[in-house]
Formats: sequence, structure tokens, C-alpha cells
Amino acid sequence: MPLGEFGLIERYFQRPHVPAAGVVALGIGDDCALLTPRTGTQIAVSSDMLVAGRHFFPDVNPAHLGHKALAVNLSDLAACGAKPLAFTLALALPQVDEPWLEAFSSGMFALADAHGCSLIGGDTTQGPLNICITVFGEVPVVDGTSQALLRSGARAGDDLYVSGRVGDARLALEVRRGTVHLDEALLRVAQLRMDQPTPRVALGLALRGMASAAIDVSDGLLGDLGHILKASHCGATIDTSVAPELIAVNSIFKRANADFYAFPTLEQQLQYVLAGGDDYELLFTAPQLARDAVQTAAQASNTPVTRIGRIDSEAGLRLVDAKGNTVANDFRSFDHFAD
Ligand code: ADP
Ligand code: MG
Repeated sequence: MPLGEFGLIERYFQRPHVPAAGVVALGIGDDCALLTPRTGTQIAVSSDMLVAGRHFFPDVNPAHLGHKALAVNLSDLAACGAKPLAFTLALALPQVDEPWLEAFSSGMFALADAHGCSLIGGDTTQGPLNICITVFGEVPVVDGTSQALLRSGARAGDDLYVSGRVGDARLALEVRRGTVHLDEALLRVAQLRMDQPTPRVALGLALRGMASAAIDVSDGLLGDLGHILKASHCGATIDTSVAPELIAVNSIFKRANADFYAFPTLEQQLQYVLAGGDDYELLFTAPQLARDAVQTAAQASNTPVTRIGRIDSEAGLRLVDAKGNTVANDFRSFDHFAD
């Protein structure tokens, strides 16, 4: 007897051992889930959709896909400094493929459990593979002021930082496209960055009250920075000389082959870092006075952060090299309707 819609939900998504607790007053099973916000908090909400052939290759490991579908949503909460609470899952599936569902849900729940984030509802339908998750998070309100990190708070003179590693997901994509070659061990590192991004939730929480603006890097660093600049009415200067250090594969490669440096050209590396996309790191600004505090927050959350530039009062984005000379900016971030 094939598994129907409700059997499928029950077997793969409804976990009886997760009791309603805390903010989640009612989970899966009724027409709505219920959340009870704690006094002095706001609920942060964000949705992200993943479409087969658009955001992932249809042959991707389903456990990785389950992880990534939730990770990209948790990354949005991280960018707002929100603590994950719960999520819903709207799923279109071409057919009921039980091994696929088993792997998908395990990958998703492993990450959900690591963040104490419960699946509280969703929708399941037949159709081309499409995954839409909505996450709910919590942000404190102090003296009537939301502590959420927003895109609009950057000020001239602030430092500009990016967390973790950037560019590897694009590198993995380019290997798949055949435009560059990587040996197998390095490709595995890059591939992992593409398939299983780490949402920087702990860093986002640690940056509350410290970062002046934040966004997560999903479409490409420069494009996402553009959103901060627009919302904050300012400009920025980026030191591109730090870019190669941001690529995880690069540092591993360098350690192993100190004198030999043959893979992607500097030009390509800049492209991957500045416009690669799919990184799910945090790009944020903070006053110069907070430099020590930012490093302390980075250490406390076990997430490296790199200072890559500064915010200017003059509008526009300027790229410079280590000597301060202008670097031409012909990097373009991802746009679903332009690309
Ligand atoms: P309705 O028809 O009232 O929208 P459904 O029959 O679609 O409700 O879903 C029944 C219950 O299962 C609801 O609580 C819904 O939130 C939940 N649900 C449906 N699909 C999923 C899913 N993919 N993951 C988690 N919960 C789901
Ligand atoms: Mg429904």
C-alpha cells in the first residue's frame, strides 16, 4: 500500500516525541500551529524557497538538501540576531520516494535539533520538487527597542566584516561547470561548503547590541552589501587583498603546497569571493570602537570574522588593493530574473 499524504507527514515529519514546549504551544496536527511569544520579545519570521534545477542539482544528496533547506532559513535568523524557535515546511514532491524522504528529513532534523528549532507545520503536495521553509525566531525588545540586527544601521566610519569563509560554494559550482579544476580532496571541502552551509546563528546572537547592520551573504557579497548600503544611505570601501584568504580551499591548498599556486587565477578568486553566492556567512558593520568586542564575540561563538573594509559617507562601492589603488569593479551578484 503506497504511503499517502498523511502517512508521509506522520512518518517523516511529525515527531511524537517532541512535546509542545516554551514558545511552541501547538505543533503539527491542527489547522494552525500556535506560538506564544514570551513577554518582552518579538517574533522574527523569514521564508526561503529552494527549487530543483534552480537552487540545487536534482541529483543532490537528499540529506544535504534537508540540511541546506533549513540552513538557508536559519541564516536569515542569524542575520537578524534572532534565536531560532520553530519552522514550517511546504514541500512539493514528484513522487513518494521513501529512502529520499528518510534521508531528507534526517538531514533537516539533525540541523533543527542542533538549534532547538521545532517543525510545527507545513504543507505537502505532489509536483516538481520544491521546498519552502518558513522560520520563526525570537528577538528581545529592550526599553521598547527591538534588538534585531537590521540592514539599515551602518554609519560612516564603521568597520565592515564578513564571517567564516566565502567563495568556496562558487568554486564547487565552477568545478561542476568545468571552468576550473580542483583535486578531489579540495573539491570535497568546497562541495561541503556548497551542500552543507553552517548558519552563523551563535555569531548573530553575539553581535546583538554590537553590530550596527547585518545581512547574510546568499546572492554574493557585493550584491548583499549593496542592500546594506542602500538601506543605510552610505557607501563602502573594500580591501580586495584579503579575498583569497577568505576561500577555505585556498588556505588548505597553501598549507599543503606552500610554493605552488596554480588553481583559480586571482581574478577568478575575486569573482568567487565578491560575487560567488551561496556562502551563508554574515556580512556586518560595527563601530571601530567595537573592534575588540567583535573579536571576542567571534571567539565566543567559534566563528572567525575578517575585517574587509569600512563604511563611507560617500555613496557607492569602492574596491582597493593592499596599497589602496582602485580595483575595477565588474563583479555581478546573482539575480534570479537577470541571470
Ligand atoms: P490543511 O489541509 O488543513 O492545510 P494538511 O492536511 O495540509 O492541513 O496538514 C495536516 C497537518 O500536517 C497540519 O498541521 C500541517 O501543518 C502539517 N503538515 C503538512 N505537511 C507538512 C510537512 N511537510 N511538514 C510538517 N508538517 C506538515
Ligand atoms: Mg494543507
